[in-house]
Amino acid sequence: MAKTKEFSSLYELFEAIPDERAAIAYFRAIRWANGEFCPYCGHDKVYGFSNGKTWKCAQCRQRFSIRVGTVFEDSKIPLRKWIAAIWMITTHSKGIASTTLAHDIDVQQKTAWFMMHRLRHAARTRSFNRKLRGTVEVDEGYFGGKDSNKHRAKRGKTKKSLAVGMLEREGEVRVVPIKSTSAMPYHVLTHVSKDARLMSDEAPVLTMLGETFDHTTVNHSRGQYGDGGDGHTNSIEGFWALVKRQIYGIHHWVSAKHLERYLEEITWRYNRRDVKERFRVAEFLTRVDGRLTYRDLIAAG
Ligand SMILES: [Zn+2]
Repeated sequence: MAKTKEFSSLYELFEAIPDERAAIAYFRAIRWANGEFCPYCGHDKVYGFSNGKTWKCAQCRQRFSIRVGTVFEDSKIPLRKWIAAIWMITTHSKGIASTTLAHDIDVQQKTAWFMMHRLRHAARTRSFNRKLRGTVEVDEGYFGGKDSNKHRAKRGKTKKSLAVGMLEREGEVRVVPIKSTSAMPYHVLTHVSKDARLMSDEAPVLTMLGETFDHTTVNHSRGQYGDGGDGHTNSIEGFWALVKRQIYGIHHWVSAKHLERYLEEITWRYNRRDVKERFRVAEFLTRVDGRLTYRDLIAAG
């Protein structure tokens, strides 16, 4: 299989992928890196048509495009524009607004909005079976409501969306939307290795975790931000600040219904902060399996 192309700018991307046929060839090299297969039955013998866009399965005889079974299925947007959108969403450190994407790749704003949500769907973390190790900071993040940036004790009673964040220092972050803080211990037990060192604030709901983990608590209300050593939750708090800057700064407002997808996008970017820009498009394209229809998107939440 040909070596996957790399790009260092949007300009290079368009030069390397000059037309739709080149975009299909590019995606094909990634999707079929381990050999061709039929998206309907999984059979490994398929015939390509001379148009370079259509294949037929030797077993189930169905015709298909390279998009079938991916988030691009049923989309009329050229794959070349999708690849440009992936470049933009993976290299702009705070993400991009759908209005910006619409303008830059020349599609309608509603189309751009749907594209972004499909890409967020693809960005879902799928490495959840690896438990977080080492020192792991745990904290909840609140979204929505005018006082969302205030500390817990100062917040009012306005309805907010909530998520638990678990951050492995020098490693990955995991974020899971929750209905109530009482769900936090369950997610910590699910995502964090029992031999990890846990850092959190003194939320009573988390005290039971001391039975399972080496658990250090930090008292923020007494103005104690760490003990001078490594007992702090600065990393996860920094992550929440990043999330809030993006959600309120770029998107201005995110409904509770779609919060999970925004969190997935931001988490994806954070966990690949050390992946060089030029590899990010190809890396993203390895994970676009699975459809997300407009109906699913609207019904979400
Ligand atoms: Zn087949």
